[in-house]
Amino acid sequence: KPAQASKPHYIIATDATYAPFDFQDKNNQYVGIDQDILATIAKREGFTYELKPMSFNAATQAVASSQADGVIAGMSITDARKQVFDFSTPYYRSGIGWATAKNSKIKSLSDLKGKTVALKTGTAGAQYAESIQSKYGFKITYFSDSDTSYRDVINGNTVATFGDLPVLQYAVKNGTELKVQNPKDPFNAGDYGFAVKKGSNAALLAAFDKGFAAIKKDGTYDKIVNKYLDAKA
Ligand code: GLN
Repeated sequence: KPAQASKPHYIIATDATYAPFDFQDKNNQYVGIDQDILATIAKREGFTYELKPMSFNAATQAVASSQADGVIAGMSITDARKQVFDFSTPYYRSGIGWATAKNSKIKSLSDLKGKTVALKTGTAGAQYAESIQSKYGFKITYFSDSDTSYRDVINGNTVATFGDLPVLQYAVKNGTELKVQNPKDPFNAGDYGFAVKKGSNAALLAAFDKGFAAIKKDGTYDKIVNKYLDAKA
C-alpha cells in the first residue's frame, strides 16, 4: 500500500442488540444513540473504524484482551471496571430497573422468592441482581443478550429480568410484552461511557472526549438523543 497521510483506524466492539443505543435498522445498518455519537465524533475528529457487534460480555472482553481498541455499548462506568478500562466523559445517565411479564402477579422483590430471574451475563443489571439474590431467595438463569432474556420472561420460563431502565422502557414502548416494575425509581444510578483498555489507546479516548465536548456544545448530541427517544416521554 502506498504511504499516505492516513487517518487512524480502530476496531470498535459493540453490543449487537441494545436499542435505543446499539441496534440494526431496516437496512441492517448499525444505528442508535451510541452509534450516531461514535460516527459523528469519528467524522469530526478524523478517525475511521470497523464496528464489531457481539454480545456485551464479549465486547468488553474483546477490549480487555486487546482484540478491539474501544467499546461503546451502553456500558456503565463502574469502579470495578475502572481497574481494567479507561472511560470517556460520561455520555448518558442510566440506572437499573426490573421487569416482569405484563400480566405477572409479581409486584415486589419479595415475590421473587423461590422463582428464577433472567440476567444478561456480565452486565451491571446482573451484578445488582446477584447482590440481592440471597436476600430475596431467587434463582438465576443467564443469557448473552437482552432480547433472549426478555423472551424467556415473556414465555414464562423465568419471572423477571434486571437491566438498564432506559433500555427496558424503550423495549416496552416498542411492543415488548414486559412490565417495568420501578420506572420512576432505578436501583442504582450510573453513567454510560466509551471505554478503551486501561493504559492503551489514549489518542482514541482523547479524540472521543474532544468530539463529545463539541457535539454537546453545538446541540448535535441532543439531536441524536431526541431522534431515538421521545423528548416528551
Ligand atoms: N449498562 C450495562 C452494563 O454496563 C448493560 C450494558 C449492555 O447490556 N449493553 O453492564
